[in-house]
Amino acid sequence: MHQPVMNHLESYLQGAPNKELESHIAACPDCREEVALMQEHSGLLRTLSVAEAPEPRPGFYGRVLARIDSQAKPGFWSLLLDPTFGRRLVFGSLSLVILMSVYLVATEPTINTVASSSPEMILSQPVSGERPTMGANPQRDRDTVLVNLATFSE
Ligand SMILES: [Zn+2]
Repeated sequence: MHQPVMNHLESYLQGAPNKELESHIAACPDCREEVALMQEHSGLLRTLSVAEAPEPRPGFYGRVLARIDSQAKPGFWSLLLDPTFGRRLVFGSLSLVILMSVYLVATEPTINTVASSSPEMILSQPVSGERPTMGANPQRDRDTVLVNLATFSE
């Protein structure tokens, strides 16, 4: 390889045209062949390096930083995945279930009480002094039954 080629080889291989080098390789077959080989090699290297490490698109680093920033804040799902919070959630749910069972057990007698004031029970109950005598006043009886029906769903 001769001096005119060596002087500008690097920039020429990177795509910068050079008159001195070009005129030399036009006249010198050895240098022309060498440069051609190097161009091929250089192109191959460029292809490989592109394949291995693609240039990040504009704004890539900004997006990465933004993502890191957003992931630093605990999201809803990461909160669920957090062991401490997950355990707390399980315990919370369990206590809720226990509370509801206790409530159901505790209110069961109340439900029976309500059921005992249902029209059928009232009709079968012995009539107290406070209660209007059934059958004596049909209108009042109807009202009593209606009131009991209305409060039945409590
Ligand atoms: Zn030459």
